[in-house]
Amino acid sequence: MARVLLLLPTTTYRTGDFLRAAAALNVDVTVASEEPSTFEESNREGLLTLDFRNPSACAEAAAAFAGSHPIGAVIGVDEDTSVVAAAIADRLGLPHNPASAAAAAGDKARMRDAFARGGVPSPAHRVFSLAEDPARVARAVSFPCVLKPTFLAASRGVIRADDPAAFERAWGRIAAILAEPDVRQRGGERAELLLVEDFIPGREVALEGLLRAGRLHVLALFDKPDPLDGPFFEETIYVTPSRLPDRAQREIARAAERGAAALGLREGPVHAELRVNEEGVWVIEIAARSIGGLCARTLRFGAGLSLEELILRHALGSLEEVPARDPRAAGVMMIPIPAAGVFERVNGLEGARRVPGVEDIVISAHPGQKLVPLPEGSRYLGFLFARGDTPDQVEAALRQAHARLDFVIVAPRIEGGDPSLRAG
Ligand code: ADP
Ligand code: CA
Repeated sequence: MARVLLLLPTTTYRTGDFLRAAAALNVDVTVASEEPSTFEESNREGLLTLDFRNPSACAEAAAAFAGSHPIGAVIGVDEDTSVVAAAIADRLGLPHNPASAAAAAGDKARMRDAFARGGVPSPAHRVFSLAEDPARVARAVSFPCVLKPTFLAASRGVIRADDPAAFERAWGRIAAILAEPDVRQRGGERAELLLVEDFIPGREVALEGLLRAGRLHVLALFDKPDPLDGPFFEETIYVTPSRLPDRAQREIARAAERGAAALGLREGPVHAELRVNEEGVWVIEIAARSIGGLCARTLRFGAGLSLEELILRHALGSLEEVPARDPRAAGVMMIPIPAAGVFERVNGLEGARRVPGVEDIVISAHPGQKLVPLPEGSRYLGFLFARGDTPDQVEAALRQAHARLDFVIVAPRIEGGDPSLRAG
């Protein structure tokens, strides 16, 4: 039986969906993660501990493991693990993205350079060291601009600035995020850098695609109907199919394919964000992974294949044709964190579930969890899913259901402090 090696960061939302996909396809699975599991002793072929920060060491460890348990496919689910997946696949002789392409896709500065070299329309950019004086840098950039770390995701630390004062404040906030110990550790020297780029106005879409020998197959194009004008860029609603005219959709697909080619990506899933305005289509980002969170649950292909099943079958070489998406309109809302505090509970779930078209509601925050809103945070409260005859219906259902939810968030307890001094 074929075996897939799944590379799962501890923070991923996607473990369950990938394991279910593997079970549906009847393939053996080994889960690689960074933290040794207590089950490792009893389930030696099912679990592997790898240090994702060191792709070549991961490749050696995976090759040693594959000596006794042959591996037919390696899948990463985020930017870091897709770089590791490329290194492992290379070592095992499996079809894969070049490691340098996966690395460029996981580094926003390298990505902008690759787009510029490849003539792919993408915002003008400059990279600065955090050691520079932000007041001086603020005099050297043009406005409006967007400041961001080079290696984070989920809009964490992405901030628009319209003038030098806002620029300096944004700089300070991003520097603080990059100084967090886990972020520093992940980013290495990239945690010393800050990317500044022109703000591109326009409507934003997300393209979910599958590369096969360098050719891009569009799996779904999502509209992001909420305005994303900053200063922070909270992901909320995704609805597919897109309501943009066919011609714009074709241009978007072409821009994404050119962007992937400029990065050198050739195989496997891509998730791209693009903006459309009077000047044309702009590539904001192309990640060498599939859509994040639980958003893949909006998608079904052919006779009911999930996105994870499709990705596994492609990686195992058993996907003959790329099946079409189930044509019904579908959408998801990543439920934003409205305020900092501690999540206590959510009211109104039953009413929200009764909104016609709403298919499922998953609250992924757990009671007692500390909630951090953007731009410092990177998690969601949960996900709302809807399906309908038209994208408008789906969008309306998501908004209505969200309006019926009431999240109870309380002020955090001051650790070790006098209880009488508790805030709120
Ligand atoms: P992340 O990897 O955290 O998602 P992105 O670079 O994709 O980082 O930025 C997140 C969001 O911020 C984008 O989806 C977009 O809405 C907005 N954004 C980022 N860069 C720009 C830009 N140069 N112009 C306009 N909007 C931008
Ligand atoms: Ca992005």
